[in-house]
Amino acid sequence: MVEDEQRLAKMVAAGLTAEGYAVDLAHDGRTGLSMARIGDYDAIILDIMLPAMNGFQVCAALRQEGIATPILMLTAKDGEYDEAEGLDTGADDYLTKPFSFVVLQARLRAMMRRGRSAAAAPTVWRFGDLQVDPATRSCRRGDTRIELTSKEFSVLEYLASRAGEVVSKTEILHHVWDFAFDGDVNIVEVYISNLRRKIDAPYRRASIATVRGAGYRLAADGG
Ligand code: CA
Repeated sequence: MVEDEQRLAKMVAAGLTAEGYAVDLAHDGRTGLSMARIGDYDAIILDIMLPAMNGFQVCAALRQEGIATPILMLTAKDGEYDEAEGLDTGADDYLTKPFSFVVLQARLRAMMRRGRSAAAAPTVWRFGDLQVDPATRSCRRGDTRIELTSKEFSVLEYLASRAGEVVSKTEILHHVWDFAFDGDVNIVEVYISNLRRKIDAPYRRASIATVRGAGYRLAADGG
């Protein structure tokens, strides 16, 4: 997050940290730019009015250098001019101050989800004979096409994007359901069980392992 209002920056950083994000802060444009060049960030929250270099300049410089990290711009006023210019310089989304933390988080999550699926779009993931195709949102076991609901596919897609890693229920919930979802985190179990019934049981496989107390892991060999 690149923001010179330190109190706001600290509040947002604390909120995001509590939600499981790792947050680095820069308080001027030049520092923000050099951090964005070096760091492997999932997203950048970028204020416009900044010392040393403004947000438009930082954004334009990053895009010119081919750095495609999703950028959420913070505009101080409700001006269409800011919005248009922000998007022109290559920002992915904008948010007008003052904003609620809940809205910031939702926009950030949506932006990161778009970023990831766009990058992953041309790839078909293969795990043994299990194929997951994000472009067509379809899944196969060998030659058999398996019908999944949209949410089931999203859960599988998220596990696939992190195959071999343990993914917690909360992470799955945060990546697949939006912030408006206020139900039980155990909804994830229902979807995992549906997926197993469709992609594993008929083929006598076990591609989705339960890691007790931690979450789930998609086997890189398809189970
Ligand atoms: Ca500012």
